[in-house]
Parts: sequence; C-alpha cells; structure tokens
Amino acid sequence: MLTIAVSKGRIYDDALPLLAEANIIPIDDPKTSRKLILRTNHDDVKLVIIRATDVPTFVEYGAADLGIAGKDVLIEHQSDNLYEPLDLKIACCKLMTAAPTDAPEISGRIRVATKYVKTAERYFAGKGIQAEIIKLYGAMELAPIVGLADCIVDVVDTGNTLRANGLEPRELIMNISSRLVVNKASMKMKHQLIQPLIDQFEKTLAQR
Ligand code: AMP
Repeated sequence: MLTIAVSKGRIYDDALPLLAEANIIPIDDPKTSRKLILRTNHDDVKLVIIRATDVPTFVEYGAADLGIAGKDVLIEHQSDNLYEPLDLKIACCKLMTAAPTDAPEISGRIRVATKYVKTAERYFAGKGIQAEIIKLYGAMELAPIVGLADCIVDVVDTGNTLRANGLEPRELIMNISSRLVVNKASMKMKHQLIQPLIDQFEKTLAQR
C-alpha cells in the first residue's frame, strides 16, 4: 500500500496532472466527496487530501509514504526526517514581506504578523532587525489595517490580495514551489514502488 498526502486546494489542483502522467488517477473527487482518503485507479495507492501544514507531519511519522507540499510549509516545519527528492515546480509563488502602500520604512523594533513564525524570525534576525512576531492562522492582510502589526510575511502570487487590502509587496524572502517529500523508512522499504514514481515525475517535469 502506498499513501500520498497532498495539500488541498491550489497544490492538489496543480498536482493532479502530474499524478495522472504517473498513471495515478483519483476515483473520488474531493470537491464533491467528503471523503478524506481518496481511492485511485490502483487498489494499493490512496491519496489523503489535507491541510498544507499537516503534510510534512503525516509523511514524517509515516502516516503517508509520500507528500506534496509547498516549500513555505516545509521550511517552517524544519524536519530532518524527510527526503525532498524533487522540486515539482507547481503552485509557484513568493514568500514576501508586505506593508501598507507608501508606508515609510520603520526603524527600530517592528511587529510582524504571519503564520510563518520560525521563517520570519530567522529572516529578520538575519537582517539584524528586531521583530516581534505575531502568529496568525489566516487573513494576515488584515493585521496592518487594524494596527495589529506593521507588516506581514505571507505567500504572494498575483499580489491582488495585497492590493485589495491596501498593502504592497516589499522584500522577497524566498521563491516557493511545491516539493515531493518522502518518508525515510518508506524510501527504503518501498523503494520498488517509490523510485519509479519519482522517475516518472522527473520525466514529466523535464518535458514541460
Ligand atoms: P494572490 O494571487 O497574491 O492574491 O494570492 C492569493 C492568496 O492565496 C494569498 O493570500 C496567498 O496566501 C495564497 N497563495 C497564493 N499562492 C499560493 C500558493 N502557491 N500556495 C498556497 N497559497 C497561496
């Protein structure tokens, strides 16, 4: 049995064609079904569609053999127990700082709202900036508007969400794409199942 954990939403949508090229096709549709475990065209392969931040945890503990998750989530999770053999180059975006449009640079201690607490801490420490990091679970854009923070750290794609909330992108922290991650024990025990899958993904990516 092979279990693949995939972040729901944008990453799942972008991963579907890649999985299809590797002849893994879900039978259940997560948009219409409430099932959390999706059957596929192979009896011994199933997909679990879960929150992005839970994917590394599932794979690390072996609840899933493989996972597809954004690099933003993986660097925040910081685990040595995962192999990351492949950049799938899907769901690309940028991890950035953003602040109210035309707001002056703040000198001294700043307040930063983000769900990427560890990554933000490392980033600002690396720049020698004193930052108080405020953990939020969503709607980061709201924080500067209501005076909760001076700026945010979030993933940005088109920038439309920032602009719609009177914010502008400032500094690029990191380019983000989704990665394939593999449980270390599974890589050894199920090598004959997993390696061909990695090879197929690699082939598909090379043809894109
Ligand atoms: P945007 O296109 O910049 O307006 O992005 C819309 C929202 O989707 C932002 O608030 C981001 O948090 C989120 N987002 C954008 N790209 C990604 C991605 N690749 N993975 C996960 N979330 C994303």
